Order: sequence, then structure tokens, then C-alpha cells
Amino acid sequence: MKELPGASLQKACRLLVVFCVLHLSAVLFYYLAGNKGILQGNPEPSPRGMAGPLWRETTPTLIPDRVSKEPCPDPSPLLVGPLHIEFSQPVSIKKVEEENSDVTLGGRYTPKDCIALQKVAIIIPFRNRDEHLKYWLNYLHPILQRQQLDYGIYVINQGGEETFNRAKLLNIGFVEALKEYDYNCFVFSDVDLIPMDDRNTYKCYDQPRHLSVSMDKFGFRLPYNQYFGGVSALSKEQFEKINGFPNNYWGWGGEDDDIYNRLVFKGMGISRPDATIGKCRMIHHSRDNKNEPNPQRFNKIAHTKETMNSDGLNTLHYKVLDTERFRLYTKITVDVGSPKS
Ligand code: BGC
Repeated sequence: MKELPGASLQKACRLLVVFCVLHLSAVLFYYLAGNKGILQGNPEPSPRGMAGPLWRETTPTLIPDRVSKEPCPDPSPLLVGPLHIEFSQPVSIKKVEEENSDVTLGGRYTPKDCIALQKVAIIIPFRNRDEHLKYWLNYLHPILQRQQLDYGIYVINQGGEETFNRAKLLNIGFVEALKEYDYNCFVFSDVDLIPMDDRNTYKCYDQPRHLSVSMDKFGFRLPYNQYFGGVSALSKEQFEKINGFPNNYWGWGGEDDDIYNRLVFKGMGISRPDATIGKCRMIHHSRDNKNEPNPQRFNKIAHTKETMNSDGLNTLHYKVLDTERFRLYTKITVDVGSPKS
């Protein structure tokens, strides 16, 4: 039978329609498949900067530096509790630096994954105790990092040969640390004291904190109830409220008792960890030169109430002689003057 004219044109049109329907279905299929990936949160995001299919580009991805950090949990989940502390093996500073690779120049550290609850400056009064400082850095850096603190280490070195003045060095540490960063808590630590439990957090509390409450030297107990020596922590406000520490206790003893008196006279109490968490070891040493017991200390302690407003932060004079930035600490050498000046 002969085909009618126009029949082949009709056939071609039908074929074209079928082709179009197939094409549209394919487009619709791929479109829906792409949307499904987005709605289900495609677990395989396209790597940043790489070209890929359109639906992959719009897939939500977690970009770490844009995610806002949460405050660190309190207490830190990284704490391990009791620690073995001993001083028989010499410490290599290079090794301590390698083991604390997240600590940056000047002895600064801030947690990576959360916002530290406090910004803590740790102030160490210092002269000629390099061996002790190595032990301190070796033990304390890992502890402070586990405590998830935003911290900096300031070693305040008394230059010259004058009688040692611990409390004035601590005042200087407070002032100098604040020039560098917005610290809100200050831990004042002797260089030879190491905590034996990392739950003894080096941070500030509602009331001034005494941390070294259970020292081996005193048979793991307080030598007397008012004892505030060794390691203590004061917030910026608490420190300013007492006009800082006294500047004129030259030689060993009494300045910590004066600080205790200042706190009490300003209506504050002392916060302390319990005797287990507050255990600490002291590195044995012979008495330092130019740090003889101060014979005036008993008389001075008896007059804190009258002297505290005219001796402290508001009368602090000193000269910075040198500032050295080491990986694990900042060392500030100062001229503190002399008892006569
Ligand atoms: C001194 C303090 C010292 C304490 C413990 C007291 O007599 O005044 O400065 O910390 O003894 O040794």
C-alpha cells in the first residue's frame, strides 16, 4: 500500500515528541536525585575549591574555622587526677619544648577546641633557680593544658644583688602581664612547687584561692590556718581590691601573711581545695643567698591594716632591664631597687 502524502512527516513528528519526553524525564530524574542529596545532608561534601556537579557545590559543609567555639566544660574532661612527681632525673628543656608543641613563644597557650573559662597569667618570682624552673615547666605545661586554660607564663627575675623581694616581684608580674594580654586571673607560684594532682586547677574563684594547701614539706597539711604561701590565685578585681601585695618585705618571710591580712581586712575569705587534691611537692634546696629571714616581718605583719593602702600597687616603682621570650616562658628581668630606696 502506498503511503499517503504527509504520513512520513507525521511519523517524524511522533518520534520527535517521544525523544523530547525521554529527554525531559532524564533531566527531571537527575534534578530530583540532586535535591535528595541536599535534603539528606550529603555526607560527602565536595572538597573546597574543586569543581564538581552543581548539586554537590551547594551541599552544606562544616568549615572548622567558621564554626563558633563553645566554652570549655568545667571541670575539664582531660584531667587525670593524682600525678607522680619526682626530681631525680635532670630535665632537658629541648625535650619539654618538643613535648609541648602547642605552647607558643613566651609560654602562651589557648585551647584549640573550646573557649577557656579564664585567661590566667602565671607569675613566678625568680632568681638563680634555673634547675627548678626546668622541673616546673616540665610538669606544669602539660597540667595547665589539660586544665584547658588560656594561659601565659611570666618569670619575674630580680636583677642585681640586693636582698630578694618576692611580693614586689609578684606585683611587677601582675602589671607586666596585663600590658601583654587581657588576663582576668593571676596565679602566683614559687618556682619550686609542683602540684601532685591536676584537679587542683590553676584558676580563680569567687574568693582568693590558696592552692598549695598540702605540701610534703609540712607533712601534707597546712602549717597554720592563716597560711597563704606557696601558690595562690587572685582575680584581677581581688588583687586590685587589696592594693596588690606589699612592696617592702625584703628577705624571707612575712609577705604571704601580710597578703592574707589584706584579704581579711577587705572582707574576703580564702578558698582552698581539699587536702588530697591540694597535695604538692617542693624541690629541696639550701637557703638562697640574699634571702635571709626578715627580722622585721613580725612587726610589719602586725600593722597591715595601717600600711596596706599606702604600700602596694599604688606605690610600685621598678625598672624593666630585659624581656626575653623563650618558647616555654617569658622572662622579665627587673631592678626592684633596695630597702633604702
Ligand atoms: C612566714 C611565712 C612562711 C611560713 C611558712 C611564716 O613564719 O612568715 O612567710 O610562709 O612561716 O614557712
